[in-house]
Amino acid sequence: MCQRFENSDEQYLEWLDQNPAGFVFNDCPSQRVLHRANCTYLRREVDADRRTTTYPKICCTSYDCIWQTVTAAYGAEHHDWARCNAPGANCFA
Ligand SMILES: [Zn+2]
Ligand SMILES: [Zn+2]
Repeated sequence: MCQRFENSDEQYLEWLDQNPAGFVFNDCPSQRVLHRANCTYLRREVDADRRTTTYPKICCTSYDCIWQTVTAAYGAEHHDWARCNAPGANCFA
């Protein structure tokens, strides 16, 4: 079941800690990206205290579920969203 975190950094970080094998979708209109919850990019210092205030995050423990949610909302991958390919981020790359 997908959960949306908006203006709730504390709850979001708690979810990340509790679901290291989960998935996180960064709902940034100019660059929507699906991450694994253990991606180092999600924990950058520069984003501290604005992890869910700049853009909401959609989180889920199930890849199939979040994939369905994202494609239903934004269409097929590589149109309006992509999986994270940040090198060395421990994500999909
Ligand atoms: Zn879900
Ligand atoms: Zn990532």
